Amino acid sequence: MFRLNDPKLGFCRDCLAPRRAAASRRCAGCGSPRVLVHDELYELRIAHIDCDAFYASIEKRDRPELRDKPLIVGGGKRGVVSTACYLARIKGVRSAMPMFKALELCPEAVVVKPEMEKYASAGRQVRAMMQALTPLVEPVSIDEAFLDLSGTERMHGAPPAFILARFAQDVERELGISVSVGLSYCKFLAKMASDLKKPRGFAVIGKAEAPAFLAEQPVTMIWGVGQAFAQVLHRDGIRTIGQLQRMEQGDLLRRYGSMGNRLFRLSRGDDTRRVEPSNERKSVSAETTFDNDLATAADLVPVLRALSEKVSARLKKGDTAGQTVTLKLKTQDFKTRTRNQRLPDPTRLADRIFETGLGLLRKETDGTRFRLLGIGVSDLSDTARADPPDLIDLRSRKRALAETAVDALREKYGLRAIETGYTFGKGTKGRPPRAESTDTPSMRPPEFWDEMDLPDA
Ligand SMILES: [Mg+2]
Repeated sequence: MFRLNDPKLGFCRDCLAPRRAAASRRCAGCGSPRVLVHDELYELRIAHIDCDAFYASIEKRDRPELRDKPLIVGGGKRGVVSTACYLARIKGVRSAMPMFKALELCPEAVVVKPEMEKYASAGRQVRAMMQALTPLVEPVSIDEAFLDLSGTERMHGAPPAFILARFAQDVERELGISVSVGLSYCKFLAKMASDLKKPRGFAVIGKAEAPAFLAEQPVTMIWGVGQAFAQVLHRDGIRTIGQLQRMEQGDLLRRYGSMGNRLFRLSRGDDTRRVEPSNERKSVSAETTFDNDLATAADLVPVLRALSEKVSARLKKGDTAGQTVTLKLKTQDFKTRTRNQRLPDPTRLADRIFETGLGLLRKETDGTRFRLLGIGVSDLSDTARADPPDLIDLRSRKRALAETAVDALREKYGLRAIETGYTFGKGTKGRPPRAESTDTPSMRPPEFWDEMDLPDA
């Protein structure tokens, strides 16, 4: 039993013995420098766990001769870095960097082709270990998740901080890879914390220090502030979160619409989003930001088609269906338009999602230039009532049958094997970004905008 409520007493992350912060900062028992002490250590319950250089760590585990060499997982068709180990990162190699550039920076690196099956299996093992800590595990990608450990203290006989440290040890011992932990009172700060002390990190951000910590950070650390929006903020002279903290809510709302609200709240460390296990997902959606703003139906419709197929594929994979279709557009000046339509019965078919979205899109293509298009479905239910055979509309029934056949082929030959008339030959313009270029292919990437929406204050 780990009975601690004295916040001045932390513990050693290596021998797990209770320790006071010593002047030397080393554990008096085992000599480890990894002593964890924090005023709010035993009050914080929201964690973000992220595996360290996931693909590269798995390769090093499986091929010990690579352990001390700089390692890049990547190459293949796209010729980019998937993951670089920390030795390669020291030389400046980064995820999504073209391989030739990575090898310029680190010519001695060993390059290994990604083996997704292997990583997915390790990801499932990590996930299962997380779920043994709490049922409230919200996966973010193959190797990272949020955990809400509220109410688990009695079950584990120890506070969340201690359980998480022991979890990190267990993962190292059982799976041969390492994780970094961020512990805080909300998702936004837990996520930031997990990134602070990688690899094998454990960082704590308490309520008391949050505003000062945030003030120092660049605006790009805020969820939803990508490069393009950051440029808008920079043009307005806003670079740090501290500057946002000094601005009035009304001012931010006037300038940036609903995004202004998010800026106001997150800059103050106010994030009320709950950790939601994946089976509690409320909507499935996909969106994409264009390289160049698009205005015409001719340009937008193929993108809508591709996104509808993506959403449909996810619904089918999750064995779920949705009854409300939502179209999302973001204008050149970052105003968001969302339009909904409720269907007579739930659907999982790309065709119905697309047709419904198309009806909504037609009303919005008025010459406005858009920088983002998204489509999603909500009101999720199981598939029992979905897409009933429609005897009246024989055409739609045929489409449904055709789609089922196409799905089967895709399953067999891969997602891009079958292109529909709308997406075929359109090149990559406006296409949803491909997951394989990134460090960790997201299962629930930023394109799930529902996750990023904060309830209005
Ligand atoms: Mg990771």
